Amino acid sequence: MSEYALELQNVTVTYTDGFEALHGVDLQVSPGEIVALLGPSGSGKSSLLRGVAGLEAVTSGRVLIAGQDVAGVPTHKRGCGMVFQDGQLFPHRTVAGNVAYSLEHTGRSRAQIRDEVAHWLNLVGLPDYGPRAITTLSGGQAQRVALARSLARRTGLLLLDEPLSALDRELREQLALELRGILTAADSSAVYVTHDHEEANTLADRVVYMRDGEITG
Ligand code: ADP
Ligand code: MG
Repeated sequence: MSEYALELQNVTVTYTDGFEALHGVDLQVSPGEIVALLGPSGSGKSSLLRGVAGLEAVTSGRVLIAGQDVAGVPTHKRGCGMVFQDGQLFPHRTVAGNVAYSLEHTGRSRAQIRDEVAHWLNLVGLPDYGPRAITTLSGGQAQRVALARSLARRTGLLLLDEPLSALDRELREQLALELRGILTAADSSAVYVTHDHEEANTLADRVVYMRDGEITG
């Protein structure tokens, strides 16, 4: 049996008001593959990611993560990490505290956690930022920390919802390139949502187009 990092089989997402945002979508992501999901605003990109993460209910079809049907599985147990446009960092924790978050209560020693945090901060290009307060970071730095925090969980699958779209163009182009290197070094599969063609092409192994709740190619 072939096992995808992520597989969507005929997935529909319907909101509580009855609006169907995703109409029977099929998608396969191979282990280690970076897929960009490209489409205009309102085409259903976030709905797809949120359905995979369990933040919205999938009203028909199946979502499999690493071969496991995740119907009924809560978000934090699905084996995927998410990075949002605004990072959603914990403002009361330091940079290191944010990255350490998912490593706490896992039986790791403090020294192990410290080493792993250092590893991920190094990978995202912020080796000396551990003690910094979140409020002192630039937008680009905050998104790097959000990425490190998600990678630290080592889920093998990252869902990124326009993580660079709040940054200015120049920084976005530079970070898109770097992001590809980081995801590859972390050996992570990813679905990367964007409405920017260039960013999609820079970052992804494969670009998938969405329109009106459907994948069009
Ligand atoms: P994208 O991320 O591609 O911009 P979304 O997945 O956010 O698109 O939205 C797809 C469609 O679903 C849009 O028409 C949007 O208005 C609708 N939608 C999103 N969230 C909700 C919600 N909570 N309730 C009803 N409709 C929603
Ligand atoms: Mg969106």
